[in-house]
Amino acid sequence: MRMILVGPPGAGKGTQAARLIDTYGISHISTGDMLRAAVAEGTELGRKADGFMKAGELVPDELVIAMVIERIGKSDCENGFMLDGFPRTRAQAEALDRELEKAGATLDAVVLIEVPDQLIVERITGRRSDPQTGRIYHMIFDPPPEEIADRVVQRSDDTEEACVARLQKYHGETAPIVPFYEEKGILVRADGVGSPDEVTERIKTELEARR
Ligand code: ADP
Ligand code: ADP
Repeated sequence: MRMILVGPPGAGKGTQAARLIDTYGISHISTGDMLRAAVAEGTELGRKADGFMKAGELVPDELVIAMVIERIGKSDCENGFMLDGFPRTRAQAEALDRELEKAGATLDAVVLIEVPDQLIVERITGRRSDPQTGRIYHMIFDPPPEEIADRVVQRSDDTEEACVARLQKYHGETAPIVPFYEEKGILVRADGVGSPDEVTERIKTELEARR
């Protein structure tokens, strides 16, 4: 199973990916997580990406495309993968298509998690994660348990200002990839408003209906 999760920042892509990968036995590939790891390690890619990420801008296509193509060629992706946060531009979608075609592989589904803009800032500014497990929490909707509350961290780009910039990028650059996948007949729309459990059920129901 090869799948993509698309949606505005804070739509719940990471939250849903963590719940779905076990069901489908596939690898979770989050370009945001990979880029943050590169920044933390101070690699050449990390040094190039850092400023774009802090400002809520997209990291240039050529850097992200090369990173993803290398990643999906690894052995843990032979069974499939769930791409979270990639593609984010038309050029990325086309590059992924070309790469899969070369490998004789196809995409099974592109899941679009829909959440209205007015809910996004609250989701983003309340987001925290546990650096030890990577588990994502929300200070209001999914608060961390007391024993780990002291160690949860906030991403440096989860400010209201960077969130607004990311939302603009989403509407300007990422939303236009939706018709690209709709035309291929593999787009699955899922309402992202409701509890994480409800959203997971909606996605699974939609995916099962197409198998
Ligand atoms: P969110 O969880 O808010 O959707 P991500 O963790 O996916 O954000 O991404 C964080 C930042 O990493 C983005 O704002 C962007 O700077 C960069 N990034 C992640 N994926 C991509 C991509 N596919 N193309 C360009 N930049 C990306
Ligand atoms: P994305 O990967 O799309 O940026 P996340 O999965 O990181 O989104 O979720 C963003 C924030 O919203 C996190 O704090 C998460 O706990 C919270 N969240 C995720 N799904 C829901 C939901 N269905 N309802 C309320 N909050 C949610």
